[in-house]
Amino acid sequence: MESAIEIRDLRKSYGDVQALDGVDLTVPEGSFFGLLGPNGAGKTTFINILVGLVRKTDGDARVFGYDVEDDYREVRDRIGLAPQEFNVDRFFPIHEVLEHKAGYHGIPRERARERTEEVLKRVGIYDKRDTRFDWLSGGMKRRFMLARALITEPDLLILDEPTAGVDVQLRHELWETIIDLNQRGTTILLTTHYIEEAERLCDEVAILDSGRVLDVASPEELMDRGTDDVVVQLRE
Ligand code: ATP
Repeated sequence: MESAIEIRDLRKSYGDVQALDGVDLTVPEGSFFGLLGPNGAGKTTFINILVGLVRKTDGDARVFGYDVEDDYREVRDRIGLAPQEFNVDRFFPIHEVLEHKAGYHGIPRERARERTEEVLKRVGIYDKRDTRFDWLSGGMKRRFMLARALITEPDLLILDEPTAGVDVQLRHELWETIIDLNQRGTTILLTTHYIEEAERLCDEVAILDSGRVLDVASPEELMDRGTDDVVVQLRE
């Protein structure tokens, strides 16, 4: 099986700060993969390199076999990113934001409308389609970020703390949606601070700390064999 993500000796420094310090990681196609680690571990830097927002300092990073820097045009329509921060155009109704995004990716206008309708229904905010982003509740904003990541029907969905700050009920609803996407074949890379989220969702988890991978295993194995110090810290 092809790897969705293949990383070898990846390094990134910001001046003196070594954000990634030799990361090796393979994410199999179709898997639900978790990236766990404390604040500042390098999770967002790792994601930003994958989607081409940050340039690596050294090493090799491939998505579906393509180099993330040299061949980024080959993969940008195949990756959907729901970032932690709400970097959304606030001057248009949310359905227009999604239609524009589809347009940037070369989706024809009529299909862009259909696709927008599909993703808004999928995340459960279709009735809010004429609302501006700022007028949505916090939970609806999280749903919108997921809808936007799905607009190109990506093969790899990257979710950076997708349920941060949402209540338990919405968290479970978002989980259902994400699990369903994975079961239909979408590879998922998820970062989270909630160990419960990783246990519930992920086949495999990498523990990242100070820019290094401490361990890769199923959530249960991590508990059993006690790569627990970082995980236990995250539980608290
Ligand atoms: P969090 O869980 O808090 O989001 P993280 O695991 O995503 O953290 P990163 O945001 O990747 O971690 O940060 C890794 C390290 O790189 C940190 O020490 C951070 O301060 C540093 N860093 C990140 N971006 C920059 C930047 N643009 N300039 C300088 N340092 C940066």
